[in-house]
Amino acid sequence: MLIDSYRHKGMRKSLVRVVHEKGIKDQKVLAALEQVPRHFFFEKAFLEQAYQDKAFPIGEGQTISQPYTVAYQTELLQVQPSDKVLEIGTGSGYQCSILLQLTPQVYTIEFNEVLFHKARKQFQMMGLSPFTFLGDGSEGLPAHAPYHKILVTAGAPIIPKTLLRQLTIGGKLVIPVGDTGLQKMLRITRVAEEEFTKEEFDNFKFVPLLGNQGWK
Ligand code: SAM
Repeated sequence: MLIDSYRHKGMRKSLVRVVHEKGIKDQKVLAALEQVPRHFFFEKAFLEQAYQDKAFPIGEGQTISQPYTVAYQTELLQVQPSDKVLEIGTGSGYQCSILLQLTPQVYTIEFNEVLFHKARKQFQMMGLSPFTFLGDGSEGLPAHAPYHKILVTAGAPIIPKTLLRQLTIGGKLVIPVGDTGLQKMLRITRVAEEEFTKEEFDNFKFVPLLGNQGWK
């Protein structure tokens, strides 16, 4: 059984300070980061590194994103307590657990079957209840649309039009788009039925988004 000790809590406080100093200002996002035990999502071999501001392997060639990146995307998403949020790329489940601190309505979809089952088990152990799905999230999750917010946690080659259609009016999509080496963080807002605005932010390096609208 995993334990969240005072030592872990102390390391989390330091991590939050680091992320804040790097530019994350949203107090709700920082509080969420302080709340969620990141070491619960780590392989035993890496437990000691859980509170470094770094991405780490989670198996299946995938990674748990760097805390700064998680905070950056979450801040851009501007989650409200009544929002219905879709996360694409459940991975370890860490980002999803952060989103659950901000709204109870989180849908998350993962392409890799091994990671999907592992994350579900982790959510159960932590008493968390996101709506979890196994499948190609590059197409979104149309059966449960629309969403106030959609977050893509893997690097996409394009902005999938199918995701834009799954946003509410006023809804926002945060997605890293570029080649496999580097992606620009984008925030797309659906301002009217057929009208969208696009904002560009910093560059990041994510593992590739696979599937029909992703990398083949
Ligand atoms: N959010 C994750 C976390 O907190 O650990 C990190 C995500 S990891 C950087 C990217 C994840 O996206 C991987 O688990 C990968 O299997 C998944 N992925 C890639 N293509 C996908 C797709 N088309 N649909 C759903 N998940 C996908």
